[in-house]
Amino acid sequence: MVLNCKHVWAQISDYIEGDVGPELREAIEEHLAHCRHCAAVLDSTRNILYLIADDRTFEIPVGYSDRLHARLQDEIAGGE
Ligand SMILES: [Zn+2]
Repeated sequence: MVLNCKHVWAQISDYIEGDVGPELREAIEEHLAHCRHCAAVLDSTRNILYLIADDRTFEIPVGYSDRLHARLQDEIAGGE
């Protein structure tokens, strides 16, 4: 299975939450090992998910994650 950046992005929150099958997980990890952009995206997304999951954090505006996601998708699209 060969993934491009958009495929990785579509799955990244499921990947972080461990909600992908072993084949897809392996394909994503393979892609992340070679793609610095997606590795950075993974870090950012993971940080945001942790913040959202933290009940003590109230400073993340609603829709922040959606906007980040959209912006990064634009960047990915623009880089092709
Ligand atoms: Zn990538």
